[in-house]
Parts: sequence; C-alpha cells; structure tokens
Amino acid sequence: MSHQKQKRQGFDYCKEVKSMYDVLIVGAGVVGGMLARQLSRYRLSVCLLEKGHDVALGASKANSGIVHGGYDPEPGTLKAKLNAEGVQKMYDTARELNVPCINNGSFVCAFGTKEEEETIRALYARGLENGIEGLSIISGDEARRREPELSKDVSLVLDVPNAGIVCPYELTIAAVGNAMDNGVELKLNCHVNSIKREDGIFTVTSEEGDVIQGRFLVNCAGCFSHQIARMAGDDSFTIIPRIGEYMLLDKNEGKRVSHTIFQVPTKEGKGILVTPTVDGNLLTGPNAAIAEFLENTKTTPEGLDIVGRLAAKSVPSINFRQVITSFAGIRSSEKNGDFIIRPANSVEGMLHVAAIDSPGLTASVAIADYAIDRLREMGLATVEDPTFNGHRADPHAFRKMSDEEKDAYIKEHPEFGRIICRCETVSEGEILQAIHSNPPARDVDGVKRRTRSGMGRCQGGFCLPYVMKLLKREHGVAMETITKKGKESKYVTGKM
Ligand SMILES: Cc1cc2nc3c(=O)[nH]c(=O)nc-3n(C[C@H](O)[C@H](O)[C@H](O)COP(=O)(O)OP(=O)(O)OC[C@H]3O[C@@H](n4cnc5c(N)ncnc54)[C@H](O)[C@@H]3O)c2cc1C
Repeated sequence: MSHQKQKRQGFDYCKEVKSMYDVLIVGAGVVGGMLARQLSRYRLSVCLLEKGHDVALGASKANSGIVHGGYDPEPGTLKAKLNAEGVQKMYDTARELNVPCINNGSFVCAFGTKEEEETIRALYARGLENGIEGLSIISGDEARRREPELSKDVSLVLDVPNAGIVCPYELTIAAVGNAMDNGVELKLNCHVNSIKREDGIFTVTSEEGDVIQGRFLVNCAGCFSHQIARMAGDDSFTIIPRIGEYMLLDKNEGKRVSHTIFQVPTKEGKGILVTPTVDGNLLTGPNAAIAEFLENTKTTPEGLDIVGRLAAKSVPSINFRQVITSFAGIRSSEKNGDFIIRPANSVEGMLHVAAIDSPGLTASVAIADYAIDRLREMGLATVEDPTFNGHRADPHAFRKMSDEEKDAYIKEHPEFGRIICRCETVSEGEILQAIHSNPPARDVDGVKRRTRSGMGRCQGGFCLPYVMKLLKREHGVAMETITKKGKESKYVTGKM
C-alpha cells in the first residue's frame, strides 16, 4: 500500500479534510472499533468515520454486556462460528486492553414445564454441536446450592461455565483508543451521507462537509448499515430494529447472584436475564419488541414492567426500589437471522459487516478477524507492522492501588487526591486522564462512560458542575459549549 501509516495523537474532525486512506470504516461501535484495532496491526492507513460526538453510542452502548457461551446460535451459521471463536478472543483482548471482563459463568433456567426442560436439553446438544466445552445440565437444587437466591420454581439448568460479563462501552472505547494509539484516525461528527466509487477509489462525503477517500470501505453502521449499503447502490438487505429495555440497580443489589441468570430463550431472543455487572451493579432485562424507528431508545412503563416481572421470576428477592436508572438499546437484526459479513453486491471494494445483533459483542474480535480475511480475499494487502502495541494502559490503575500506594501516588500527583464524584469515588486525576487519552472525552457523558463519574446513586447531582469545569479548562472552551452528549444538549446558556 502506498500510504505510510502515521502515528497520530488525538483526533481530527476538521471540516473539508481531503485525505486518502487504505481502509475507511463507517461506524465506531464495538464492531468498527475492533476492526480498526485489528487492522492497526498492519501497515495500513485506516480512518474510522462516526456520525456521533463519541464512540459507542449505538447498540454498543446499551446492551447486556454478556460474553455468551455459544450454545444458542443455530449450528452452521456465522453467528455460531464467530460466537464459539469469539469467547476466548474476547477474554484475551479485554486483558490486553485492560477492560474489566469477568468469567462468571451463566445459568439457563427451566421453570418446571416439560417444554422448557426439553429446550434445556436441546440447547446443551446445540452447544456441543457448536464446539462449546464445559457445558452440563444440573438440577434446580444444585443450581440453588450455588445460587441461593434463585427461584424455587427453577427445575433444570444449563450450566455454561465459559460465559462472562464485560462493560460494552468501555471495551469499545478501549478498542478505538488502542487503534488510535496505533495510528488509526477517528473522525467524529462525520455523518456519512454519500458514497461514490470511481477508478477504484471511494469518495465518501458527510453532512458536516468532510470529503474522505479510500480504497476499501467497510460498512459497520449497525442499525443504519442498510442505509450505507444503499448509498453505494446495494439494496440487498434491510435492518429490522428491535428494542430491548433494561433496569440497572444499585450496588447493594449487585450480589444477589454471581452467575448471569437466563430463562430459556424464545423466538424473540435470549429472554430476560439477571446479572451482576463488572462494576458491581445488578442488571435486569432486556425485553424484545420491534422499534418504531431506528434511533428509538426510549424506555416505556410497559416494557420495564415486563422486565421487572420476568426478572423476579428468576430471582424473586430483587428489590426494585433500588433501581438507579433504566435504558434501552436497539438490536440490528435481519430477516435471515444471521450476521451479514460479505462483499457488497456489485460494489467492488466494499465489505458489509452488518446485522450484528447478539452475540455481536462477544464475537466482536472474531468478527473483526473474519472481516479482515474477507478484505484480503478482496485484494487488501496486509503486511504486519512491527511497531503495533496491543497493550492499553489501565485507566483504573489508581483505583486498584492499596491505600498506602494511593497515598504515595497522591503526593506526586495531588489531582488524584481530589474526589470529584463521591458516589463512585472518582478523582480529578482520573477525569483528566479520560479527557487526555484516546479517544478523548469531550462531554459530560463521555467522562461518565470512561470514569463512572455520575453513575452512582445521585446520578451526577453533585459532580456535574466540577466535571463541566474540568472539560472547560482542559479543552479551553467556553462553559456554554459544554454538553451532556453533543449537539444541542447544553447545560448552560450564559452568565447571570
Ligand atoms: C438490547 C441488546 C442486548 C444485547 N446483548 C448482548 C450481549 O449480552 N452480548 C453480546 O454479545 N451482544 C449483545 N448485543 C449485541 C451487541 O450489542 C451488538 O452486536 C453490537 O453492539 C453491534 O455493534 P456495531 O458496532 O455493529 O453497532 P453499533 O454499536 O450500533 O455501532 C454502529 C455505529 O455506526 C454509526 N453510524 C450509523 N450510521 C452512520 C453514518 N451514516 N455515518 C457515520 N456513522 C454512522 C452509529 O452512530 C454507531 O456508532 C445486544 C444488543 C442489544 C441491542
């Protein structure tokens, strides 16, 4: 490839940039982010284009965060293959990127009916066919011995020891950050609205006025991937958006269960789960309903009621008065039910990595590797870059120190002794790190997702003005421009 990879710091979202890259990736969710990171292992110039003001704002922000064991997908599908391959790759990658990922195991529960118990046996057989090791079927009593809060109605359980939990947006931020540290360029606020190909070169333009060129184009646009396909003249698939709603509970509910507790899956999905999160909260959800429109992430009283009722069916002792927030995510499904990872119809050089619904998070590293194999078949030359460094510094290193170590560290770095978020004990030093590492936090929610500042019981009631002051000072901007989540979500309009 003719383009020298350059190590770049920070990000570039200038208007009217005219640049040429080896690979353009549309969409900075976990799939685009992981692909960017895996491509940064090679001597390639790569640009990641994202319409949002930060990465991980689509499905990769709002999902269950489960590393699925791989018993669920239909054998022979891409989902089955990449789920099975993806589990170990996920654990390894999370370790390299210093993203918390815990192998807590999952239980899939039947509640006394013959049909459900048959489903448990069928899932076990399917898991074996998919090559998943360690699965076993245990009685309800054995499951309750290991999970005392499990409902007495649970009669039979599929024990899935390879399953785990991970923070999905932290994983995405880390993947993109590591890709940027290795030379990938990220363009935020770059809403792709036209794609043309001439003489083997893609010219992509955005609503904001960017004009970017590349030899290969990868469509990782999640729910909007059919729109990206159509821009290039391919209407071979349509995404069906399906909403899933959640309730997140305070940390004092976080130890109700140690495994992720599923009910037997239905046609609509893997069913309502109850799970600890890597941060020590308890998560319940998601339901499954067709979303009215592609960006509909509003929760509804009806949806949350279903989540609450079904979660209590698995773990009756959950105290729902401890709910601290609710949220929803949109699955991007397709009628055939499988991932779409293939070259675009009659558009040379374009690869779709679309319809990546569950288990897309689990499989994201395997998806990226599979996509790179397809790009090679399409003519992309991949020469290893010996300077690639897959390790990302631990953003939570301070948190993990002993009290004595913290004391010594604070003497050298007093900003780590100033606590900004009292609920989650987040220091000014950690917020500054989030503002200055790749990809930099630029708004209040960006700081929140990177540091947990504002995620505790008071949901930012105390720390918000301090976080705003730090964003203002570090980015050198006016207070009136600080937003919650980009665009028009401003907090203040001026001085009184
Ligand atoms: C409710 C729910 C629960 C789930 N639970 C799990 C789970 O427990 N385990 C698991 O393995 N998987 C789970 N998944 C699936 C997983 O979340 C997805 O597979 C994964 O997040 C998909 O990532 P993505 O990068 O393809 O899409 P996204 O994260 O949606 O990213 C697509 C990106 O493209 C950008 N974009 C779109 N259009 C344009 C444009 N025109 N120009 C520029 N950028 C654009 C968007 O802004 C977005 O950032 C769940 C999904 C949902 C919704």
